[in-house]
Amino acid sequence: MPTKLYEGKAKILYTTDDPAVLLSCFKDDATAFNAQKRGTITGKGAINCTITAALLAYLADQGIPTHYLETVSPTEMRVRAVQIIPLEVVVRNVVAGSLARETGLPVGQVLSRPLVEFYYKNDDLGDPLLTGDRLQLMELATPEQVSTIQHYALQINQHLTAFFNRCGITLVDFKLEFGLDAQNQIRLADEISPDTCRLWDQGESDPERRVLDKDRFRHDLGQVEAAYETIRERVLKAVTSGAAV
Ligand code: UDP
Repeated sequence: MPTKLYEGKAKILYTTDDPAVLLSCFKDDATAFNAQKRGTITGKGAINCTITAALLAYLADQGIPTHYLETVSPTEMRVRAVQIIPLEVVVRNVVAGSLARETGLPVGQVLSRPLVEFYYKNDDLGDPLLTGDRLQLMELATPEQVSTIQHYALQINQHLTAFFNRCGITLVDFKLEFGLDAQNQIRLADEISPDTCRLWDQGESDPERRVLDKDRFRHDLGQVEAAYETIRERVLKAVTSGAAV
């Protein structure tokens, strides 16, 4: 019998008959600002499951080890059991969100090279930004693991940026999580979706209309479901047309 292993803000993880495999179930629940804002985005679970599956399969084809195995229902995928490293790895190509708020750099400024940032995945502490020294101090990962994660994060950014460009979308920034599998190998885990990426429509110059991600929910911009659906359609079109290969 599958039992609930963990319930997060957007997904529930269940055990399966195989201890090496978990079932990840995507929910319609949406939260923002460290769960101070809560709501529902109708159909989000199915949309994010589809987008995550397509993007993780694409990244696996590019040689990135991931936890994804197969999709088994509109909202559920089988994934390899991994021990999540408690880091939120954020990659940024364009200034937005906390980088704009905390540095004063203008929203929309294109970075001359991608920025990789490590945040401590800890809701009680509000997911604080870590320095390299604090990372070492806290022993959240070995220096070798940190360097592997940084390398994967930059590779993933290159692949996803190219993929989304073919969809007419700018990948502004995104958050990744990594885990260790039974062989102690680092694998990309969690999800890649409009919940965890900032995605701007290249065909729109208006700073509100171009937003196709969770910022529509965070800032009450409306048309949240439609934006997520647009991402699903364009991602699937890029995959099926082979444009992603
Ligand atoms: N992000 C995420 N989960 C988090 C924090 C951030 O998926 O707990 C994503 C967010 O959607 C954005 C990127 O990471 O694509 C950078 O987020 P930022 O640090 O700018 O945070 P925010 O503006 O949401 O405070």
